[in-house]
Amino acid sequence: MTQKIFELINDAKKILIITHVNPDGDTLGSACALKSFIGDKADILLQVSRDKNFPNTYLFLPYIKEAKTFDDIEDIYDTVICVDVASADRIVEAARLIFNHAKVTINIDHHKTNKGFAMYNYVQGGLSSTGEVLYKIFEKENKNITLEMANCLYVSILTDTGCFKYETVTGETFEIVSSLLKKGVNSADIAQKCYEQKQKAMVMLQAYCLSNAKFECNDKIAYTTIKLKDMEKFGAKDEHTEGLSEALRSIKPVEIAFVLKETDRGDIKVSMRSKETDITCIVKKFGGGGHSRAAGCTIKKPMDAALESILDEIKKHL
Ligand code: AMP
Ligand code: MN
Ligand code: MN
Repeated sequence: MTQKIFELINDAKKILIITHVNPDGDTLGSACALKSFIGDKADILLQVSRDKNFPNTYLFLPYIKEAKTFDDIEDIYDTVICVDVASADRIVEAARLIFNHAKVTINIDHHKTNKGFAMYNYVQGGLSSTGEVLYKIFEKENKNITLEMANCLYVSILTDTGCFKYETVTGETFEIVSSLLKKGVNSADIAQKCYEQKQKAMVMLQAYCLSNAKFECNDKIAYTTIKLKDMEKFGAKDEHTEGLSEALRSIKPVEIAFVLKETDRGDIKVSMRSKETDITCIVKKFGGGGHSRAAGCTIKKPMDAALESILDEIKKHL
């Protein structure tokens, strides 16, 4: 399968690398590493609009500034590669059309709930990040990993392991990280760029959301809600809520934490984290997915109704 991926890349005329909605460090780092490897015939698509929710934090990655967005994407790709995309419904609008029209579709991922929605699927559920999956693909096929690719893969692994904190981190993860650093990756510089250059809007929005947090079941459940008007009040963008559900989970008695966010489509995006509980079975009830301890879904209900449904479901699993 890994060999086939490179054959398909070779045979392709024009490749679109699709990242998931609400892009994070893993999907962006993986896309950039792949683009760096493939070169000119690949474009990256960010499922955002340029003036509304274009990500800021990861602008330091190569190829993000010139990535395609919903404002300028064209249906000209014979091959599509999705990276870190857990399910087909994380591909929306114009991207879905291109995916459906492509002659070849490839899905490279690490979500255990990924059902394999493409023609060629390489899903390693349980690995720390799609960055780690990609590293292994390159290594297995003896492809040279340049410093530029190494930087991107490092961002993937660093961010998707919560800075190497999660149980998805294995000895092998550290071996990979070690080899990336030996290639010249500057880990301190990347950590600085990912975590120490937050925008004021992000910190203020998160402080507000934390101060409004609610607790249930003897503080085993913690949650907060974000309305569109809150986002407007702080001038916040989608990426500014990243890390909020982890902050709620970090409170000692909390077992399950979640954030409900109103989207401009009028539905509610749920971002859930747990300490021990496998929460994929909770979000699957709402058509979502993810990992055992970090998962999400989207609920087509008003905020109060969505909150009630999700709380009911969580209480069944505590
Ligand atoms: P988030 O809370 O948005 O950071 O998402 C946590 C994890 O769950 C990520 O790995 C996502 O890829 C996954 N996830 C979030 N929303 C969905 C969804 N609607 N369907 C499948 N997986 C999701
Ligand atoms: Mn991701
Ligand atoms: Mn990931």
